[in-house]
Amino acid sequence: MDLHLRRESAERTIEIGFPGYAIGGLSVGEPRALTREVVESTLEHLPADKPRYLMGVGTPEEIVEYANLGIDMMDCVLPTRAARHACLYTSEGRVLIKNARYAADQRPADPNCSCSVCRRYTRAYLRHLFAAGELTAAILATHHNVHFYLDIMRQIREAIGFGHLAKFSSAMHARYAEGPA
Ligand SMILES: [Zn+2]
Repeated sequence: MDLHLRRESAERTIEIGFPGYAIGGLSVGEPRALTREVVESTLEHLPADKPRYLMGVGTPEEIVEYANLGIDMMDCVLPTRAARHACLYTSEGRVLIKNARYAADQRPADPNCSCSVCRRYTRAYLRHLFAAGELTAAILATHHNVHFYLDIMRQIREAIGFGHLAKFSSAMHARYAEGPA
């Protein structure tokens, strides 16, 4: 979290010269505001014409937020780990599919998702698979979450093209601020 050491590290790494630069050691449990401060400060010292990679981020709204700051690449276990714990990321926010309210819900996990899980299965069926301890539940949830994340990346590229990324970032924060349903 030492901004001066971050700067020195960036400068000395650039001196060696690499095709891209990573920002690591963050997203390990520190407060989100601190992560953002360190990323923003470090980004100033990294060349904008080379890929800048933020390790271990993140939630859908964090991905959009950091893309908006100039991060080009991210990686995270979240979409697959959350899926195994019955947490689905959807265009309407997070859905905790084990919740009893989905027991008879005949809608797809995400009505706006075109993945093969959302085209074929209902929330009620996914919930049943989780309740039964059926491994297929984790596989189907993972498939949906990865598809959803890839779609976010597609939307980010589109928003950059139209110059709307900051607006998209605010909309994502509003959507996920409410917490899981
Ligand atoms: Zn889906």
